[in-house]
Amino acid sequence: MAHYAIIGAGMAGLSALNQLASQGHKVTVFDKSRGSGGRMATKKVGAASWDMGAQFFRAHTEAFQQQLEQWQQDGIISEWQASIWQIANNQASPSPDTVKRYVATPRMTGLSRYMLRCASAFETESRIVRLLKRPAGWHLFSDDNREFGPFDKLIVAIPPEQANALLKTADDLASLREATHVDMNPCWTLLLSFNQPLATDIDAAFVKDGPIGWISRNNSKPGRDAGESWVIQANHHWSKDHCNGERHGLMETLQNAFWQALQLPPQPHAEIWLHRWLFSIPNVVEQPGTVVSNDDSVALCGDWLQAPNIEGAWLSGNLAARRLSGQPLPQQDTLEASL
Ligand SMILES: Cc1cc2nc3c(=O)[nH]c(=O)nc-3n(C[C@H](O)[C@H](O)[C@H](O)COP(=O)(O)OP(=O)(O)OC[C@H]3O[C@@H](n4cnc5c(N)ncnc54)[C@H](O)[C@@H]3O)c2cc1C
Repeated sequence: MAHYAIIGAGMAGLSALNQLASQGHKVTVFDKSRGSGGRMATKKVGAASWDMGAQFFRAHTEAFQQQLEQWQQDGIISEWQASIWQIANNQASPSPDTVKRYVATPRMTGLSRYMLRCASAFETESRIVRLLKRPAGWHLFSDDNREFGPFDKLIVAIPPEQANALLKTADDLASLREATHVDMNPCWTLLLSFNQPLATDIDAAFVKDGPIGWISRNNSKPGRDAGESWVIQANHHWSKDHCNGERHGLMETLQNAFWQALQLPPQPHAEIWLHRWLFSIPNVVEQPGTVVSNDDSVALCGDWLQAPNIEGAWLSGNLAARRLSGQPLPQQDTLEASL
């Protein structure tokens, strides 16, 4: 059995971990953050908490549908039976879609912690900044000068800009950098909590007017704290135009747009938080799924190589792990169904 290193404990890296661990390989996972989940992040301020990144997941492919069923049986995810609306021209109407949406419980990071349980080791607060191939295998160096290794094989599961910078440090991996020229959209996200429930039937809405793209009542999701808390995501276009905007002004604009979308008079919030995702989701994805080095010892994965969502990250990580470990690959038509 081989010893693998996975850089990045988001959905792609964890999917690769689960696939490799199921074959009995030893896997060490690294992340620059204090925890796991990446863009499936949870934010806590005072007594309030929100899913700050990914809001829900859904399956387009048979493979991911089966995985969702398994996680549901394991009690890690639940269907979010929300009242979903669409708001356009200041008119709200129930969303006509019949999509099944799932969330991890009691928060999104619950799923990443569950997936991590089969790692041999999880090195947190370890930003990997250099890769070096020695005769015994790959060595990793963190920004605080720690060295890890040797590892037989390496999976790089971080966003494209970070992957590009990391791959630059190893001559053998220059050819992989071509794949990392993928544009990522920014996304301003405003989090609000209230002492009283807001008087609306809307649990979540796709918003077509003004700066907002999506709003959701976080406490309408299964397993969440009861306190009234809302996530307001600006659309990508507005986020790009205001990427370096002044925070106070942005908060005010997004709050005004929020009340306008709900057609409610402004009300005082209990907690407020504004977060800028510089790299939220890829703009366009070419879908190679993974890219592997000539000597089959390093693979790249992430949503930016498959599809701009949790499912894309899961499929990409699974494929990267299969490619490096010589497991049978999934049917191509299954992967293409995620378009
Ligand atoms: C605001 C927002 C809303 C979204 N909404 C949805 C949604 O509703 N449904 C959906 O399906 N998807 C949604 N997405 C997209 C979804 O979150 C992503 O597609 C998915 O989580 C990407 O997973 P990943 O593993 O590819 O990358 P990431 O989650 O970004 O994981 C990469 C990890 O690598 C770590 N890392 C980076 N550089 C280094 C380094 N040098 N060394 C060590 N660690 C490093 C990071 O800390 C991170 O944990 C949303 C994303 C955002 C930001």
